[in-house]
Amino acid sequence: MSRIAIIGGGISGLAAALRVHELAAEQRRDVRITLLEASPRLGGVLRTERIGEYLVEHAADMWITNKPEGMRLCEKLGLTERLIPTNAQFRKSLVLRDGRAYPVPEGFQLMVPEQAWPMVCSPLLSWRGKLRLLAEYFVRARRDGADESLADFVRRRCGKEAFQRLVQPLVGGIYTADPEKLSLKATLPRFIEMEKQHGSLIRAALRQSRTKMSGTSGARYGLFVSLPNGIGELVSVLIRRVAEFADIRCGERVRSVVRKPMSERSDVDVRPVFTIETDAVEDFDAVILAVPSFVAASLLVEESPALSAELNRIEYASTVVVASGHKLSDIEHPLDAFGLVIPHIEHRKLLAVSFTSRKFPGRAPDGRVLLRTFIGGALQPELCDLDDAAIMELVRGELNELLGVRGEPDFINVYRHTQAMPQYHVGHLDLVAHIQKVVEQSPGLALAGNFLTGVGIPDSIASGEAAAEKVIKG
Ligand SMILES: Cc1cc2nc3c(=O)[nH]c(=O)nc-3n(C[C@H](O)[C@H](O)[C@H](O)COP(=O)(O)OP(=O)(O)OC[C@H]3O[C@@H](n4cnc5c(N)ncnc54)[C@H](O)[C@@H]3O)c2cc1C
Repeated sequence: MSRIAIIGGGISGLAAALRVHELAAEQRRDVRITLLEASPRLGGVLRTERIGEYLVEHAADMWITNKPEGMRLCEKLGLTERLIPTNAQFRKSLVLRDGRAYPVPEGFQLMVPEQAWPMVCSPLLSWRGKLRLLAEYFVRARRDGADESLADFVRRRCGKEAFQRLVQPLVGGIYTADPEKLSLKATLPRFIEMEKQHGSLIRAALRQSRTKMSGTSGARYGLFVSLPNGIGELVSVLIRRVAEFADIRCGERVRSVVRKPMSERSDVDVRPVFTIETDAVEDFDAVILAVPSFVAASLLVEESPALSAELNRIEYASTVVVASGHKLSDIEHPLDAFGLVIPHIEHRKLLAVSFTSRKFPGRAPDGRVLLRTFIGGALQPELCDLDDAAIMELVRGELNELLGVRGEPDFINVYRHTQAMPQYHVGHLDLVAHIQKVVEQSPGLALAGNFLTGVGIPDSIASGEAAAEKVIKG
């Protein structure tokens, strides 16, 4: 029998546990799975809370369907029929300019204007900015495939204004990142491909337009889904499934993972054996670390100082989500979108406001709206250090000024995500390839988590499943 430990009970660790079980069953192997989670609850950053008739997400509120792992997991868990798409009526984003919210021009997909006319009519860019953006068609392509920061790429192809006024808030919002450091190759490689293959993003979009969706702007919201009871429904069904076969232990913080020297091993078995230290000490044949990279680094410092040092090179940013419930009649703005993103150049204190109850039904009672306001990130880390009272005051003041939110909210809660957002800096893919190469040479050890090759829920699931395959296939 193999004893496999999974450290970390977020979506990556839970997905890893399920995949280990499936592979072991396929190979008729007797495997004992133990999942060790430091906190008293599973799910990691993913958490859904009911507050009266509001359904409030602490972190993620939807996931993308064009990466198959999320959908495949739902199928396995019998959740496919329960998936809900985003509300088509409000499928657009707003961007702030000079303190006012304007819609992202129709057809503008993160950095490509697929339609010229809405861009020409939009007040979000000056005439000079619009002409420069449309001149992207003629900008000479770079085809060397080298990694570049989001800021460098967009300034080079689309101009400074389109970068500052549109791309920085739209993309920066997703990654809570500093766009001067954010690796385009690790986050939005399809734009590099478009430049490489078609010579220009606009040219690529025009050629691909027949397969594109119309009537949307900003993020491709038509591709996202959730569940009637929120992301928590996915997590709780997954936990129930994993609990059928795994020994789940919450409140057990792992302190170190060390390979047992052959000299200390009494058996003649050639399999690797790891000693995991919590409050007790226990041996396992294989270990999946599904924790943030800086935690993995600290757990492995004795086992592999070199791997630990590489893992420590991945930086993280913090963000704070402030959820608040309001009467619609207390808000001047019609909230006819999924949310508002705020360019750094506007010098405000907010990153974005999600009009969460506009995205999916059942998130707020009739006549009410659920807002989730994001602050902090890599560009304003100091705001995450404020205490809850100061954060609430700041958010209420900004919501009042930007959207005309008045009156007392039904509730207002602060959710902190400290060091929760891995930052994919230029060179990230090379760093991860190097880390995985070192891990590859370490039988029985695997890494999973959102710091590897994608920050979204499907990426995290994919990382857990890949880690499971590594430890089972050896
Ligand atoms: C505010 C926010 C909004 C987001 N929005 C979206 C979205 O809309 N769509 C989307 O697809 N993605 C979104 N994401 C990203 C996505 O939710 C995460 O990347 C994903 O859930 C990470 O899962 P994970 O299991 O890799 O990590 P985590 O959820 O961080 O789980 C790691 C687990 O390891 C445990 N742990 C840590 N140290 C130890 C230790 N020493 N011993 C044992 N256990 C330990 C932790 O307690 C935790 O439970 C968002 C993230 C945040 C923070």
